[in-house]
Formats: sequence, C-alpha cells, structure tokens
Amino acid sequence: MLKHYKFIAILCFIAISFPKEANAWGFWGHMRINRQAIFSLPPEIIGFYKTNIEYITEHAVDPDKRRYAIDGEAPRHFIDLDHFCVHPCADFPRKWNDAVDTYSEDTLQAYGIVPWHIEVMLRRLTRAFKEKNVQGILKNSTEIGHYISDSHVPLHTTVNYNGQLTNQKGIHGFWESRLPELFHEDYDFFVGKAEYIPNTLDFIWDNILNAHSQVEDVLSFEKELDKTFPSDQKFSYETRNELTIRTYSREYSAAYHDMMKGMVEEQMRLSMKHTADIWYTCWVNAGRPDMQDVKFEEVEIEEEKIKEGTVKSREHAKTGNDIFD
Ligand SMILES: [Zn+2]
Repeated sequence: MLKHYKFIAILCFIAISFPKEANAWGFWGHMRINRQAIFSLPPEIIGFYKTNIEYITEHAVDPDKRRYAIDGEAPRHFIDLDHFCVHPCADFPRKWNDAVDTYSEDTLQAYGIVPWHIEVMLRRLTRAFKEKNVQGILKNSTEIGHYISDSHVPLHTTVNYNGQLTNQKGIHGFWESRLPELFHEDYDFFVGKAEYIPNTLDFIWDNILNAHSQVEDVLSFEKELDKTFPSDQKFSYETRNELTIRTYSREYSAAYHDMMKGMVEEQMRLSMKHTADIWYTCWVNAGRPDMQDVKFEEVEIEEEKIKEGTVKSREHAKTGNDIFD
C-alpha cells in the first residue's frame, strides 16, 4: 500500500514538475550562471547589470519556459554535431549560409541551431546597446546568457543527448542539474574579468567543440560506473515539495562527479565567463555607449505570450525526469 502511494506521488511529481526540470543546467544553474557573470563586467557597465540583477537572474530560464510552447524555440538550445561530423569537425561550415547550402535549413532546424542563434542574439544585443534600449539590453543579455550556457553542456551537442541510445536514459538531467545542485558549494565561481572577443563566430564554435569533445567521457564514465556500482544503491528517494522522488543517489552522484575531475565546474565557469565576454563585446561593438545615464527604474518587459501547443521540432531536452521512464 505504501509503495502504491509512493508511485502515485512520483507520478504527481512528474506531472507537476516536468516542464521545470526539462532544461539545461536546471533552473538553478541557469540563474546562477547569469547572476555570476555580472561580477566579471568592467566598471562602465557593471552598475547597469547590478541594478537589474534580479531580472537577469530570474529570467535566465525564459527560453526554456518557451521551449515546448513556441514553434522554432526548441532547436535554438542545441546542435547534434555528431549527426554531421566527427570531432573536431574541421570541415563543418561555421557560417549559417554555408551550413544551409550544405545541409538545408530543415535539416539544421531538426538537429539544432544553437551557434547561429547565439549570433542572432549577439546582433540584437549590440543593436539594443546602440539604441540605449533598456528593455532590449536586459532581455537580450538575459537570454543570450541562457543560450551560451546551453552551448557549454556536452550533452547539448550530441544525438545521444539523454543517453537514450546507450541505455543511459536520464544522464542529461543527472549531469547538468543533479550534479551542480549537489556539489556547487565546492565550486570556485570567480572567473576573472570579461574580455573582448574579436571573432565571435569562431568563439561560439570553439566553445561548442570544446563541449562536444567531452561527450565521450560524460557517457563512458557513467557507463563504467554503472557496471561497478552496487545497482541497489544507484538510486535513492528524496522528498521535495512534500513529494517523494526517485533520483540518482548522493553516493552514485559523488562517484560520477569525481570521475569527471571538475568537468561540471569548469563548464559552468566557462558559461559564466563567456556570457560576460559576450555582453562586454556587444557593448564595445555598439560604440561603448555611456550606461550611466540609462534609466534603471521602471523597466518592465512585456512577456512573450506563451501559447498552449506543441513544438513541431524535436523535443530535444526532454530530460530531467526521464529516469522514471
Ligand atoms: Zn535551454
């Protein structure tokens, strides 16, 4: 009987929390990355960002909230590079037009467009700085931080994004949500000063390829651990919001985290640093507008209306709770 209730509780948890869980770095991670990036900024713009720190933090997850409701949103969060090429993908066309010529737009939309969407966001943010458009600066800064962070998650660069092809379903949420939430207190989030990026397209690609180069380790280490770890201790039950959920046990999580030797921390640090780099670069490219006289108050950004519906594109990051499947 108790078991029965537990099962119902788990089902309820899935129903309630699924949309929340299904996003890269988890809600917590995205918020933390955006928030921390602010502290790398130079004096000319840090004041503006600090004044709006709550907005930039809270709205870090807006792109994931839209993901299942707005057509065309889902592929902006990933690119399945191994569908196209073998690392280091030296011949893969980096420019959108070249990639479209080689693979067609439909194919790119199906397998992800994160590098080019970051480029689009970059142009929008630069324009907003030029126009001193406070709403535009805030919204685009906040959301570009999200996409940059997604592009640093190894499992956002592979067709096997949730270990579904290797019997490791659930590894996506495990790596990017469970691990940082458990171990972030030991992470060092001082990532240094923002730097100007002369070639942003190469920068975006280098970061994606760096993340992609770690896919093999992310998957194989967990596979290896699964073979040696006592199977009855792999998962545990935890209570959240008064509901019991099944999740990777702390011991299993710690063992996996140790095997990766700081990879999760490093990818989070890079996400923070590179978000700050891009904010700063857009501001410089906009002609270093004086941000002192930009009004901070009464910034209200009209929320995009999220309509009920399904996304036609593949729902790539259906991840967080897939361990229940
Ligand atoms: Zn995302």
